[in-house]
Amino acid sequence: MPEGSLTTRQDRHPERSGPTVFPPAAGGPGHAVEGSLLNRPGGAAAAFVAFLAVAIIFLAGCEKKSFSKTELRAVTDEVVSAAQRVAGRKSEITIRPEVQPSRSGAPASLTADNIYISLADSSQGGALRQALAEIARRHKLSIAESSAGGITRYDFSRDGVRTHAIHVVTPLAARSRPVVPHLRGNPQLAIILDDMGHDRAAADSLLALPFPLTISILPHLPLSAEVAEEAYRRGDQILLHLPMEPEAEGGNSEGVTPEEIELRVGMNADQVKSALEGMLETVPHAAGVNNHQGSRATADLPLMQALMPALRDRNLFFIDSRTTAATVAYDTAERAGVPAASRKVFLDDTPSKEAILAQLQLAARDASRDGSAIAIGHPRPATIAALAQGVPELEARGIHLVFASDLVHQKGH
Ligand SMILES: [Zn+2]
Repeated sequence: MPEGSLTTRQDRHPERSGPTVFPPAAGGPGHAVEGSLLNRPGGAAAAFVAFLAVAIIFLAGCEKKSFSKTELRAVTDEVVSAAQRVAGRKSEITIRPEVQPSRSGAPASLTADNIYISLADSSQGGALRQALAEIARRHKLSIAESSAGGITRYDFSRDGVRTHAIHVVTPLAARSRPVVPHLRGNPQLAIILDDMGHDRAAADSLLALPFPLTISILPHLPLSAEVAEEAYRRGDQILLHLPMEPEAEGGNSEGVTPEEIELRVGMNADQVKSALEGMLETVPHAAGVNNHQGSRATADLPLMQALMPALRDRNLFFIDSRTTAATVAYDTAERAGVPAASRKVFLDDTPSKEAILAQLQLAARDASRDGSAIAIGHPRPATIAALAQGVPELEARGIHLVFASDLVHQKGH
């Protein structure tokens, strides 16, 4: 077990000076202004004519043309400049386009920009609010403000259609977690919460727990990116909860229907890589992945051999959720040089608080016996209640809560 492996928030949040821009899904719209009229001969005149045409349509009010991508991006740029002006270089700004994922491989369509602004100091909030109101006024956008859990959110919209969601995060001094010095030999327990990204309220309750959690988020959900950003801000670790093909319905132990976008037996390396890339774009800050379902997929050697190099190329580790005893995922990861580990205990197969507390004890016993253990639970009320009660008791007994990344190992290391 590596010494001093307890991860502090600072380790994982290198200070950035510029905005981070995440591209939308592959094949989707990019950030560049396409086919700018000004780049062509006679462009200025053409641009003026185009401007007149747009102005006439606008003045006539006969067409509710949706906000153009160019204007959307212009507003985004203004918001970023305003944030940098107000918050200085210590602010962290992330831009994440909101895209409509497509079912059948057609290009995703850009619908709005999500902008995440971390202020270095909560006193900067007022000046930023003023700057945002000014930008909205200039672009004839409505602005709506809401506040919850340390985040103030400003929604810009035109004609009832949202164009921007601006999440302003102010520092929560009380959130910083106590850093317990890592003592050699203490049993280590990582708790992964699977199937995140559906429910913001459950996420907030989990993220409020005062110990490190590994938050595994399903891709392509409306809240995937938002929950990932919030978990990251709170200092938790993010995993992509990678949907994989289960055994045929009825015959699978997971008792769930397959996901629309998932890794399926028969996919080749390129298909796996591009599916993975699309998923990662909706789950920012992912440090690793674990499988969602996958009783069929993780037992399929060619599929796992296609997946592991793609993870290795992106420096992602792999946690085998072990949804089937026939899994070859962990061994394939090791052979491909991907740091990996396996789940030991499912916490909430029986979703009562008593049963979950008993499973926590089981996980603690495994951790004491083997040095470490990984437990997986879900964002359900009974699980959250059991964690809130049970984990502090385990910590008092010397079990150290760590991130999944602290427990992965590489062959030969
Ligand atoms: Zn799952």
